Amino acid sequence: MQLKRPLAASFAAARTCSQEKGSQVIQVDIPEPVKSVLNVLESGGYEAYCVGGCVRDSLLGRVPEDWDAATSALPEETMALFPGRAFPTGLQHGTVTVREGSLRVEVTTFRTDGTYADSRHPDSVTFTRLLEDDLSRRDFTVNAMAVDLRDQLTDPFGGQADLREGILRCVGDPEKRFSEDALRILRCLRFSAALGFSVEAETARGLRSCRELLRGIAAERVQVELTKLLCGFAAAETLREFPEVVGTVLPELLPMVGFDQHSRYHCYDVWEHTLHALDAVPAEPVLRWAVLLHDAGKPACFTRDERGGHFYGHPAVSAQIADAILRRLKFDNATREAVTTLVLWHDRDIPRTEKGVRRALMKLGETRLRQLTEVKRADNLGQAPEFRTRLRELERGTQILDGLLTQNACFSLKQLAVSGRDLMELGFRGPEIGTALNRLLSAVVDGDLPNETAALLSAARAQDFLSV
Ligand code: ATP
Ligand code: MG
Repeated sequence: MQLKRPLAASFAAARTCSQEKGSQVIQVDIPEPVKSVLNVLESGGYEAYCVGGCVRDSLLGRVPEDWDAATSALPEETMALFPGRAFPTGLQHGTVTVREGSLRVEVTTFRTDGTYADSRHPDSVTFTRLLEDDLSRRDFTVNAMAVDLRDQLTDPFGGQADLREGILRCVGDPEKRFSEDALRILRCLRFSAALGFSVEAETARGLRSCRELLRGIAAERVQVELTKLLCGFAAAETLREFPEVVGTVLPELLPMVGFDQHSRYHCYDVWEHTLHALDAVPAEPVLRWAVLLHDAGKPACFTRDERGGHFYGHPAVSAQIADAILRRLKFDNATREAVTTLVLWHDRDIPRTEKGVRRALMKLGETRLRQLTEVKRADNLGQAPEFRTRLRELERGTQILDGLLTQNACFSLKQLAVSGRDLMELGFRGPEIGTALNRLLSAVVDGDLPNETAALLSAARAQDFLSV
């Protein structure tokens, strides 16, 4: 098994302090409010631990996003220990949220999961007083560790060793665990991409063989996991290794895999090019989704002549594919529109002139234009080295953009020196107003009129203003 990034190993090793009577003492900086919750539970005579992702991240030297606590106390016993500040947020799963200072700590009773009829939800959960039972229901060894107030680590499945080696391994039989809950398949790929860990061989076999079960997972959950996967620093490596698994939820990607471009501009097939571009773009959801999908339409648009392969019209086809995928995964409209616009525009040339950049600004706005520059940059970095000549041009475009913004150049109706009201006073009515405003803006952006009230009103007064 190969380690994608050996960094994790050194962090884990550095954090291990000593070995005491077969159990390890480690150094975890549990935040004070969490400590105080664990303390109250222990004083009540129960066991209490930090568990799961926060232990994993602490051992890796990362700052955990949230701290989950697990306890032998039953939910009603936890509620009784925190009168007035405990809320039954997920009682059927044994979860009580405790308010402690400014923090909310989720406290979950040790539990084991019953059978799974639907690869999604356990049919029942059973509470238990044993920590090890609770750890055994967790997905991966690196997520199945607990630490108590005395920094005592409980690690029954070798999670620490796997962290050190950078390995994702199922707790128990991978096929059984993935068929119980198919979301674990995507969680596995997401952790692999985010932590740069490799997937242990049996676990990899298990997730491949269970991949069809992913079709039963709610779109919103697939969306969350895929976005986290794409934003991982090792996303390209994970996608390269498991295209058929990701292809179960994104079948539109599969035609790209191995698709020869027959083009001197490209040294990679469409999929490899996409992965190289993905590596080159900042890890931000809109950018990563746009780059993943920017060439998805290429296979359908392929033609070939004596000059080589062509993909005429592929940005529009890719944008349609992106739109369909993002709708299916129930993305919000803003994200969907941003991604599809970037995909549609990724191959358009934006002239490196003030006029060219002002026009692009008028159509896209500053945020989208800057994102487009990132997408184009990444796209170019994914091409054959001798054709990575676009980078200088893109830099020049950004300089012009920065210059225009410092000069407060006009590129939107908001900035135009006349308003709809001014035009109404001139006698414009209804839809004429919008048409006239857009015409004036176009003229200003093109440099044909100055953005000055008198000049704009006088242009609008011209008899043939709306007819030309
Ligand atoms: P992060 O919060 O960084 O996304 P995490 O590992 O903390 O990662 P959570 O979704 O917060 O993930 O879950 C907390 C813990 O609960 C996990 O570490 C794991 O032990 C367990 N867990 C979560 N989802 C599953 C699942 N589908 N199957 C089994 N165990 C799970
Ligand atoms: Mg978590």
